[in-house]
Amino acid sequence: MMNNHFADIILPLAYKGLLTYSIPDEMKRSVHPGSRVLVQLGNRKLYSGIVNRIHDIPPAARNLRPLIRVLDAEPVVNEIQLKLWNWISEYYMCSAGEVMKAALPSDLCLEGVTELPVTEKYKPREESFVRLASAFTEDRLNAFLDSLSRAPVQLRLLTVYLDLSGYVPEALVKPVRKSLLLKEAGSAPGSIEGLVKKGILEIIEMETGRLAEYKTPAEPLKQLTGEQYAGLKELKNIFSDRETVLLHGVTSSGKTEIYIHLIDEQLKLGKQVLYLLPEIALTTQIIQRLQKHFGQVTGIYHSRFSNAERVEIWNRVGRQNGAKEYNLIIGARSALFLPFRNLGLIIVDEEHDGSYKQHDPAPRYNARDSAIVLAGFHKAKTVLGSASPSVETYNNAITGKYGLVELRERYGSVKLPVIILADTREAYRKKLMVSHFTPQLLEAIDGALANNEQVVLFQNRRGFSPYLECPECGWIPKCVQCAVSLTYHKGINRLVCHYCGYSSPIPAKCGNCGSPGLQTRGFGTEKIEDEIKIVFPSARVARMDQDTTRGKSSFERIIRALEEGQTDILIGTQMISKGLDIENLTVVGILNADNLLNYPDFRAHERSFQLMEQVSGRAGRRTKTGKVVIQTSDPGNRMIRLVLNHDYRNMFRIQMDERKAFNYPPYCRMIRISVKHHDRSLLNSYSDILARDLKAEFGKRILGPEFAPVSQVQLWYIKNILVKLEREKPAAQAKKYISGAIERLLREKGASALRIAVDVDPY
Ligand code: ADP
Ligand code: ZN
Ligand code: ZN
Repeated sequence: MMNNHFADIILPLAYKGLLTYSIPDEMKRSVHPGSRVLVQLGNRKLYSGIVNRIHDIPPAARNLRPLIRVLDAEPVVNEIQLKLWNWISEYYMCSAGEVMKAALPSDLCLEGVTELPVTEKYKPREESFVRLASAFTEDRLNAFLDSLSRAPVQLRLLTVYLDLSGYVPEALVKPVRKSLLLKEAGSAPGSIEGLVKKGILEIIEMETGRLAEYKTPAEPLKQLTGEQYAGLKELKNIFSDRETVLLHGVTSSGKTEIYIHLIDEQLKLGKQVLYLLPEIALTTQIIQRLQKHFGQVTGIYHSRFSNAERVEIWNRVGRQNGAKEYNLIIGARSALFLPFRNLGLIIVDEEHDGSYKQHDPAPRYNARDSAIVLAGFHKAKTVLGSASPSVETYNNAITGKYGLVELRERYGSVKLPVIILADTREAYRKKLMVSHFTPQLLEAIDGALANNEQVVLFQNRRGFSPYLECPECGWIPKCVQCAVSLTYHKGINRLVCHYCGYSSPIPAKCGNCGSPGLQTRGFGTEKIEDEIKIVFPSARVARMDQDTTRGKSSFERIIRALEEGQTDILIGTQMISKGLDIENLTVVGILNADNLLNYPDFRAHERSFQLMEQVSGRAGRRTKTGKVVIQTSDPGNRMIRLVLNHDYRNMFRIQMDERKAFNYPPYCRMIRISVKHHDRSLLNSYSDILARDLKAEFGKRILGPEFAPVSQVQLWYIKNILVKLEREKPAAQAKKYISGAIERLLREKGASALRIAVDVDPY
């Protein structure tokens, strides 16, 4: 009876160890690994933590504190999740508490409160929703609309409803929040009643979070083409003796259709599936495609949801409760942390995408790599999909660590887009540029608009112009907190720092020589939008970047306008490179390929190849062959030549050669230690101490300390030390040494004003 005395608790702290508490007798039955418990830390502060382990080993510390309370009837976190947290904290060198903070919806996390909350259990919120009374055909609906011609208020309500719900004839009947509908339509509640009486709309009470209700049976799966079917068969074949497969298929080859078949199989086996996407908000189209087949059991998880919604989804994934459970989760990287019961498959779509890596704050994890580990814990399989895989993944595939399945044809035998290089330097010299547009690009846009086709223009900088400059002395306004120039945003007429968010009014005169009239330099999406409107005054132009997509549904609105042909030209940052599948989109312009290629990073070339391939993949996906115009001042550039031929293989070979020559991953493991201090010279001396300690162990495998490319952010000066470890040796020991060296540094006099961040695989 006298066992299970102690519990090690994970608390939301950067502190690396776990704190041990004693378990009062009356709680012994209700405390399990994964239980959420309330504990006291310090004098008064209360925290909720997660039990990592229960044991009998008396801790060395005296005056051991007891657990105060067990917060839920059942553990919130299951054992596989705990295993994943512990793996991430060890591999990525952070505390389990930092993983917990990323993993748990914050409503499940109490931090440093001084009073017990009265009730902090989540109750699903019921709300009134409105939807069509039935999945009407288009004809039927048109008849309704006609019949309402003399009831303008009801007519307006119905059209606004159709718009908000994204009506698809005879398919989904998506409920819309009643309050939202009334607000958007600007009408009084009574007018909905009228439509309900006519049998057109109905009102339902629903828990928020359960937004996708489908009345019609799920759509049958599409029949695969010969190549797709062979690919699917091969994939399953490989799974019989391998855990991970790379599905390398050109854009629009039907990778998503193959995923859908795999998902269907797993769901029929009673397994759960996780479908990871790089940036969820951009992928409304994919969500709709999956919901058509798996509507009832599909949940979506990403950071734009409210906390209550996240808790709701968490519970639906974790608990077996029949009609309410989610078995297919589409999510961004944090969906990895949901309480899956029995995963059968993880799909990592666009596996090469940089946004799978969380850079700040800790845990600095890569969701693709962690997904493979998670799948292993569930004895599940992983499919990595991409049209231009990351160099590491492709290397793993051709060396046999992963299986490899390739799709070479686009669906419907549509040809890959034709790529046209436009030499900006020559065009400037010959005075053929119109604003920032080359004759080749203008001609392509002309042609598309004349045929009522659509155009996407890509520029990887937001704002109007990247900086202002004094024409007299060359002075450039800089951020007061960071070592970067401020970007000019015309819409709000301010200068904005893209690193820290600081903003200031436009200076009337130069801060150095006092002369008036600072000039704009370079161009961002906002400027392109302005100028394209001048060149094509009758075109309908929209812009998609961080500044135009702050609202939760703003992505959907922009994409829907494009789908419905209400936008002729869409301008955007890399946001537009993903997932867009628009039938009528035939021309893609890349406005400035130079600033992609010249980025100071060992992956810059790989990334620009992937980005250009991916953006190009948006053009001509159905019947017409698309056209891609790449504007560059360096048309002979080797990477651009490879894009021209869609030559992934050679891009891979060249990159591997370079990485071998300069010892970069996959030829080594990389760990980056960032040391920060408000005082520049103190930073210099402390980072030298650390580097010396590390060099004593690793010798020439230590590079730096060197100032970061942006050497100061939010008043913190930053220096980086890079560790390049041998691939063949286990990294655990080296990581231990690094942690030890950091602890030694922090014990130096005055070192407490340092901030140190460790990033494992910082790319
Ligand atoms: P990828 O994921 O490789 O970019 P998709 O799965 O999006 O390719 O396919 C491109 C387009 O072709 C989509 O609109 C998709 O619905 C369609 N498509 C692909 N395969 C089939 C198929 N076997 N039957 C019908 N449509 C298909
Ligand atoms: Zn000046
Ligand atoms: Zn700043």
